[in-house]
Amino acid sequence: MAFGKSSTLSMRIIADLQIHSKYSRACSQELNPKNIGLWADKKGIAVMGTGDFTHPKWLNELKENLEEAKPGLYKLRVGSGIAWPSSDKGRPLAGPTRAPRALFMCTAEVSSIYKQGDKVRRVHNLIFAPNFEAVDKIIAGLEKTGANLKSDGRPIMGVHCDTLVKIVKDADAQAEVIPAHAWTPHFGVFGSLSGFNSIKEAFSDQAKYIKAIETGLSSDPKMNWQISELDKYSLTSNSDAHSLRKIGREANVFEIAEDKLSYEEIIGALYSKDPKRFLFTIEFFPEEGKYHLDGHRDCKFSCLPAQTKKLKGICPVCGKKLLVGVLNRVDELADRDFGLTPPRSIPFKSVIPLEEIIAETLDVGSSSKKVLALYDQMVGHRPEFEILLDLDENQISTIGTADVAKGIIRVRQGQVHMDAGYDGLFGKIHIFEEGEREQILKKPKQTSLF
Ligand SMILES: [Zn+2]
Ligand SMILES: [Zn+2]
Repeated sequence: MAFGKSSTLSMRIIADLQIHSKYSRACSQELNPKNIGLWADKKGIAVMGTGDFTHPKWLNELKENLEEAKPGLYKLRVGSGIAWPSSDKGRPLAGPTRAPRALFMCTAEVSSIYKQGDKVRRVHNLIFAPNFEAVDKIIAGLEKTGANLKSDGRPIMGVHCDTLVKIVKDADAQAEVIPAHAWTPHFGVFGSLSGFNSIKEAFSDQAKYIKAIETGLSSDPKMNWQISELDKYSLTSNSDAHSLRKIGREANVFEIAEDKLSYEEIIGALYSKDPKRFLFTIEFFPEEGKYHLDGHRDCKFSCLPAQTKKLKGICPVCGKKLLVGVLNRVDELADRDFGLTPPRSIPFKSVIPLEEIIAETLDVGSSSKKVLALYDQMVGHRPEFEILLDLDENQISTIGTADVAKGIIRVRQGQVHMDAGYDGLFGKIHIFEEGEREQILKKPKQTSLF
């Protein structure tokens, strides 16, 4: 294991602790253990969440294909029915053919829907478990409530948030519950439609076990820092990927001694609020998330919270109630001005996925063949996160193109423009100004690349 560029004893560990499997609704059939491992390597992720461990078929696949490599962290077993491929969807694999190095940690997400007070609550929570034995116990506890875990990789259940924590903690004291994408309107613990106003309200006497919240794609730590009530929680970021390419679009970066790497150490760093152990989170620009502003997707109308107030929450196009997004909901609960950094907060870096930066420079869609070819070329040399975070402009030019290098440097400096997302529509990024992009596109092609 030699990710990152730290001393020999201590390693930078990039961890994406929330994804879904092929057994979750609207998720890619390619999300199997082997592919997830391969893509984690391409991205430079050292520890991946398994996702969906509550699903019986997925859990079987995980148990068949993984073996413990470090306490509570599993590696792909080579040999057991896995033929290590030399191609990925017909295209040659970037880098040498070998078993993926990424380690897996047992994680899942469940959807609780129930009535509390006069409101129907819909909350997604993450569950982290220290090993498969704990997973089995958690599953037994959930099944006792009548939950149908076979229904989906992210099962829907009537289990209240506090009961969920009780079941998980009774199964294993080292297992953890973390509210997922805390601000999204429909399923966030603070969501505008069916959420709560505090962790205490949602988790009652079990709130003491909640040590972190996931900020989700539409909010970043800076927005969360406006709420003093949240100072005591760690802010975590994960991809919630529904396909291989989206793995790592948000992630956590820890510094952990190589010989200590374990589930316990990951949780310890995650909860530490110590920037020497939890170095930073990797974030979307929150405007890129699909619930940042208020609006109506079908009406093609979006607005800032202040305008929603003026409109009394009513869409000027259709006359119905606007969907209140994350920015507005954070504003509602905020008791501090934007821009303040509370003590003991973990820094963050805003990134744009490499494929999207490449697509910007080529002026084509991010899933076009040209983009994929250049992406594979680049990650064949260095993992995506090293390219996005560490390499200098020259180094990036050498393995990619000068335009991509320029784009990455701009993103690092925050010099990007966004049409913010709303009502389920992702935001759009612009790294280059219009005239500038024409200049780039007019340039003769760097023929060595394709
Ligand atoms: Zn969710
Ligand atoms: Zn409308």
